[in-house]
Amino acid sequence: MKKLLIMLMVIAQLPMIGQNLERHTKVIKLMGSRFEITAIHENPQVAWNAINAGIAEISRIERLISSWDPNSQTSEVISQAGIQPVRVDKELFDLISRALQVSKITDGAFDISYASMDKIWKFDGSMTEMPSEEVVAQAASKIDYHNVIMNASDQTVFLKQKGMKIGFGAIGKGYAAQKAKEVMSGMGIKNGVVNASGDLVAWGKNEKGDPFQVGIADPQNKEQVLSWLNVENTSVVTSGDYERFVMFDNVRYAHIIDPRTGYPTTGIKSVTIITANPELADALSTSVFVLGVEKGIAFINQLPGVECLIITDQDQIKTSENLSLNDKS
Ligand code: AMP
Ligand code: MG
Repeated sequence: MKKLLIMLMVIAQLPMIGQNLERHTKVIKLMGSRFEITAIHENPQVAWNAINAGIAEISRIERLISSWDPNSQTSEVISQAGIQPVRVDKELFDLISRALQVSKITDGAFDISYASMDKIWKFDGSMTEMPSEEVVAQAASKIDYHNVIMNASDQTVFLKQKGMKIGFGAIGKGYAAQKAKEVMSGMGIKNGVVNASGDLVAWGKNEKGDPFQVGIADPQNKEQVLSWLNVENTSVVTSGDYERFVMFDNVRYAHIIDPRTGYPTTGIKSVTIITANPELADALSTSVFVLGVEKGIAFINQLPGVECLIITDQDQIKTSENLSLNDKS
């Protein structure tokens, strides 16, 4: 899947003589996305064992959170909506709890129960007309994170209303990237990158001992890098890709739903969040889309250690207070 404006490139550099660190990278499709998993290590066997363990970890998470797989715990929760609570693994329970926290701090802009809109909006080019207001309102009435009821002592999740759904499209890749990083680090990889189609976490340094670099593409010309970001033990996550939107009456609707209205968001082409944890970065990038440019930037400015870069529909670049972009070079 191609991103519109943020082109993430981790520069390949030659190993330094004497140090023997080598870069090993696997490109693989997981969670419906292109993952690029990089381990830097002097021993190729150690690197590849860790890369394979990272892949296994991402596949495991996919099975847990997928709403397409009828056998996943997530599907079980959805099928019991309005009927009864479902006991889930602690891992899923905790992930949903964290998602609900993001809903709280974003005043509902982020909401995993957006998923009741899944059948209404299609962002694959198949939509020919705007759905009726009634249809949108009916599906949107099921969105409300307050109706995702968590019971910690039973470790259950209950979707209170019939027809409610949850989906992890806005947080799952970031979570998987973080978990893959943890597994790889635990196997001796001190320097690496997991890049899930633009949801990227990097730790340590590249094989030359320099920080990894991520290129931010020029909105006017996707092939040109506007600015390089040095990333050291941080994540850079972008929401918004140019294949997934729909146009009606010359208005461009992104594939992110405003939970308050049930309509897709407008005005922003992409949001990039830079912060330590890719799961949080993933959730926040989606949230800023819904909050819009001004509220989104004001919100990010309040969060210590989080920066953002927004590209508007008009190709303007807006950044949070403490993000400085390097000149083109
Ligand atoms: P991302 O690319 O991380 O912004 O995730 C976008 C995906 O998140 C969409 O394709 C939906 O699966 C899901 N999503 C859409 N709107 C929301 C929302 N308001 N809150 C949470 N998830 C959403
Ligand atoms: Mg996201």
